[in-house]
Amino acid sequence: MRYSALEILKQGLTGNKGWRPAWRSPEPKSAYDIIIIGGGGHGLATAYYLAAKHGLTNIAVLEKGYLGGGNIGRNTTIVRANYGLPGNSEFYSHSLKLWEGLEDELNYNVMHSQRGIINLFHSDGQRDAYARRGNAIINQGDDAILLDTDQLRDMLPYLDYDQTRFPIYGGLYHPRGGTARHDAVAWGYARGADKRGVDLIQNCEVTGIDVENGKVTGVQTTRGAIKARKVGVVVAGRSSQVAAMAGMRLPIESHVLQAFVTEGLKPCIDTVITYGMGHFYISQSDKGGLVFGGDLDFYPSYAQRGNLPMAEHVIEAGMTLMPMIGKARLLRSWGGIMDMSADGSPIIDRTHIEGLYLNCGWCYGGFKAVPGSGDVFAHLLATDTYHENATRYRLDRFSTGHGLMDEEATGSQHNLH
Ligand SMILES: Cc1cc2nc3c(=O)[nH]c(=O)nc-3n(C[C@H](O)[C@H](O)[C@H](O)COP(=O)(O)OP(=O)(O)OC[C@H]3O[C@@H](n4cnc5c(N)ncnc54)[C@H](O)[C@@H]3O)c2cc1C
Repeated sequence: MRYSALEILKQGLTGNKGWRPAWRSPEPKSAYDIIIIGGGGHGLATAYYLAAKHGLTNIAVLEKGYLGGGNIGRNTTIVRANYGLPGNSEFYSHSLKLWEGLEDELNYNVMHSQRGIINLFHSDGQRDAYARRGNAIINQGDDAILLDTDQLRDMLPYLDYDQTRFPIYGGLYHPRGGTARHDAVAWGYARGADKRGVDLIQNCEVTGIDVENGKVTGVQTTRGAIKARKVGVVVAGRSSQVAAMAGMRLPIESHVLQAFVTEGLKPCIDTVITYGMGHFYISQSDKGGLVFGGDLDFYPSYAQRGNLPMAEHVIEAGMTLMPMIGKARLLRSWGGIMDMSADGSPIIDRTHIEGLYLNCGWCYGGFKAVPGSGDVFAHLLATDTYHENATRYRLDRFSTGHGLMDEEATGSQHNLH
């Protein structure tokens, strides 16, 4: 069924009885050409592009819970292409271009809003680093503008510019950045994949990966064994656990990242803002809630909830940057499990097991990557060659040391990326 204004009018006039489920709920078949483990944003986008671009439809997405119940439905929805390093910059640029056509492509309102992102800086050194990053973004063909404090004061009058410790010197503005409705992205890709014949199987946990003579032959699940010629592991915070089913040890640690939302307020923040001297970034949702977050909790964990010290830390930073936030009431907080790689950049690659492929290491930046990741991973699964915009996301960079992409320049400690 095609969604349109006319359809809404027709359904509204006929008691809304004609809407159909957005996807089927099929029983798993005994065999598929390709199995995708994980029904988050990346898994669903991969299945969609396999069907839409490569015409492969004998595919199942196996999800242990419900579609969109993982990080895809827990993030703070920021979409941007302001990476500086080769490898990342062409990939995220490609992903942003896909975002810009996504609603038409999927016939689904994912509420993509290019309201701009401003990264604040608070010292001369930080200004230099942002100027360098801005030039890299422009060289890649994307947009970046260095703003001084007068320009910033016009745009963001409510910030505390003269904080004693970290006065604001300016900001790097990325106008094409913004936000999107996170779970709608999962639903849109799910609907598009289902429409093309992909089986989306919920409540189906993968418990084992079958390998014979160095070749993958299928998976064991809570709904029985399923055979497959190729298997893609796309399980974000559970990547180490699922890869261990095939005897692999990944350079990934799982850490919790929290987010917070206030009660709905009238429109007051019309961009995304990141604080350069504290763990804090913020935007306002279309429902009016101020959505904000900070850094990882300080220890690895598989719990999808955060700790109170980090909540206090994030809110302190928010109060320092924009004291007005102290008047808002916090409505909810939650956590998601991040697949932190040792250089902060993702892995999209084959493994040493024939037919077994990996897509992980998205750290806390994988939402903006969903369209790009789905596209390039589908390309790898379908053609066994690397997509031109994802040639550097090799797994072996962690064993050879060649090609590491440490965007944050923080070294090899997972939780610092
Ligand atoms: C609080 C928070 C804020 C964030 N903010 C941003 C942001 O602003 N911008 C941004 O770009 N990124 C952000 N991220 C990161 C982003 O959400 C993730 O990088 C991205 O969603 C991960 O990919 P995914 O959507 O495929 O993961 P998920 O949605 O977690 O999908 C993985 C799926 O695999 C399933 N699974 C796991 N094990 C198995 C198994 N054995 N069998 C079957 N299924 C299995 C899980 O149930 C899950 O549904 C944020 C994350 C969090 C938690």
